[in-house]
Amino acid sequence: MEVMISKEIYDKLDHAKKIAPLDPKKSIEISRYVYKLAKNNGLKLEEGYAFLNIAFASRIKSDTSSILENAYEALSIFKNKNDIIGQSKALNLIGIAYFYSSMYDEALKCFFDGRKLLDLHNDDTLLASILNNIGEVYKDSEIYDKAIEYYNMGTNVISKNGNHVYHAVILGNIGEIYFIKKEFEMALEVYNKSYNMLLDADEVIFLPEVENKIGKLYFQIEDFINAEKYYLKAFKRLRSIDNKYYSIDVLINLAQLYEVKSFSGTLNLYEKAMYYAEGIGAKKKLFNIYNLISQYHEKQKDYKNALLYYKKYFNINEELKSLNLKDKLEVLNIDLRKIQDKDKIDNIRIRLEKEIKRQKDELENIKSSNEILEKKAYEDELTEIANRRSINIYIENILNDISLKQDKIVLFMIDIDKFKRYNDFWGHTEGDICLKKIANCIKKIQVNNKDIFGRYGGEEFIYISTSISYKQALQLGNFIRTEVEKIGLYYMDKGNKKCTTISVGGVIGNVGDFSSIREIIQYADKELYIAKSMGRNITIIKDIDIKG
Ligand code: GH3
Ligand code: MG
Ligand code: MG
Repeated sequence: MEVMISKEIYDKLDHAKKIAPLDPKKSIEISRYVYKLAKNNGLKLEEGYAFLNIAFASRIKSDTSSILENAYEALSIFKNKNDIIGQSKALNLIGIAYFYSSMYDEALKCFFDGRKLLDLHNDDTLLASILNNIGEVYKDSEIYDKAIEYYNMGTNVISKNGNHVYHAVILGNIGEIYFIKKEFEMALEVYNKSYNMLLDADEVIFLPEVENKIGKLYFQIEDFINAEKYYLKAFKRLRSIDNKYYSIDVLINLAQLYEVKSFSGTLNLYEKAMYYAEGIGAKKKLFNIYNLISQYHEKQKDYKNALLYYKKYFNINEELKSLNLKDKLEVLNIDLRKIQDKDKIDNIRIRLEKEIKRQKDELENIKSSNEILEKKAYEDELTEIANRRSINIYIENILNDISLKQDKIVLFMIDIDKFKRYNDFWGHTEGDICLKKIANCIKKIQVNNKDIFGRYGGEEFIYISTSISYKQALQLGNFIRTEVEKIGLYYMDKGNKKCTTISVGGVIGNVGDFSSIREIIQYADKELYIAKSMGRNITIIKDIDIKG
C-alpha cells in the first residue's frame, strides 16, 4: 500500500515539476495535493519534496515570499531527515529568493552553503545551477569577471554530464555579459552556440529568450533585418506556448525597432505589450511601457495622450516603490519566523532596523522625487511658469473643444527686445534673473485675468486669452508691454542707457478658425516679426476675420 502511494506521489511530483515552467499555478495545485497525501500517510520526506516543488513553481511566477516560505519548510524537513541533496536544492531556492529581493550577501551565503553540501554528495546539474546563480549575483552586482568565472565553472561541470539545456542557459548568461561590455562579436558567438544547443534539444522555454537576446544584439549593431527576424521568431514561439511575460519584452523590442526604422505599427505594438502586461499584472513592465508610450506621443506632438500616459507612468512608479517595500519586509518577517538561532535573530533584528530606516528615507525620496517629476512635466525649470509642453496641451484642448468653436481667442507671442545685449552687458546669470522677473510680472497679469501663459523657449513667451474683442486684446497686449517696461531692467548699449522692453505679436479669431497649434502660432509669429521690424516695444495684432 505504502509503496503504491509513494509511487503516486513521485509520479505526481515529476509531472508537477515538468509543467511548472508552462503552468506554475497548476504545478502548485498538484504539489499541494501531494503534500496532503504525504502528510496523511506519514511520509515526511515526501512532504519536503512537495514544499520544494511549490517553491520551484513560485520561482517561475517570481513570487519571492512563497519561494522563501516553502523552501524553508523543505529545508527543515531535509535537515531532520539528513537529505543532503534536498538541503542543497532548498538552499539554492532560498538564495534565489534573496537574489530577487536584491539581498545579495544573503543570497551568496545560501548558494555557497548549498555548494558545500555537494562536496558530500555529487549532483552535477544542481552544482551547475548553483554556480550559475552565483554568477547571476555577481553579474547584477556588476562584478563581471567573477560572474564569468562562476559561469565557466558551471559550464565545465555540466559539459561532462551532458545536460545541454542547462549548458545553453549558462552560455546565454555569459553572452549577456559580453553584450553589456559591448563586445558584440563575442556575445554573438556565445549566443549562437547556446541557440544551436537549444535547437538540438528541441527546447521551448529558453529558445525564445535567446532569440530575443540575439535580436537585441543585431539591433544594437544596426543590423535591423536580422533583429526583426529574431524578434519575430521569438514572438511566434512565445505565442505558441502562451507566455505573455516574455512576449511583452519582445513586443517592446520590436516596437523600438519599428520606431527607429520608421515602420508603421509602433504604437500598435506598444499597446499590445501594454494589454499583455495589464492582463497579467506585470507592473514593472507596465512602468516601462507607459513611459515609452508617453514619449512616443510626445514625438508625434500628440500632447494630450503624452500627458495621459505620463500620469499613468507616474502613478505606477509610486505603486511599485511601495510594493518593493512590502516585499522586503515580508522576506524579513519570514526569516524571523524560520530561524530560531539567537545570534541569527540578533543579526536579523539589526538588518530589519537598517531596512526600516532605509525604507523611510526612500519613502521621503519618492515623495520629493515625484513632486519634482510632476513639476518637470508641466513647468519651466528656470522661470517656474508653464513650459512649452503644457502650453501645447492648453492650446490643443481649446482648439479641440467643440463648445468653444464660436468663442474668440487671442494668442500673443511675446519676445524680449535686444535681450542678447542685456546678456552681453550683465552676463548670463543676470540674464536669467531678468527672464524670471519678466515671467513673474506677466504671470501676475495672467493669474488676475485667469488666462494662459508660459515660456515657449529662450526669451519667448506665449499668452492666451479667450472671450475677448480686438480692442480689449490690443489693450491687454499693451498693458503687458508697459508693465514689463515698468520693472526697469536697465542695461548699457553702446554707451546709452536702455530699458528692457518686449514686443508683442498677436492673432485674434474664432477658435474654429484655427485648425492646428502650428497655424495659430505661425500667425502670431508673423506679427511679432512685423513688430520687431517696426522698431520693437510695440503690440501688433492680426484680426483674421478681416482679410488682408
Ligand atoms: P530681438 O529684439 O531681435 O529679439 O533681439 P534679441 O537679442 O533678443 O534676439 P536674439 O534672438 O538675437 O537673441 C536672443 C538672446 O536670448 C540670445 C540668448 O543668449 C538669450 N537667451 C535665450 N534664452 C536664455 C536664457 O535662458 N537665459 C539667458 N540668460 N539668456 C537667454
Ligand atoms: Mg527670440
Ligand atoms: Mg529677443
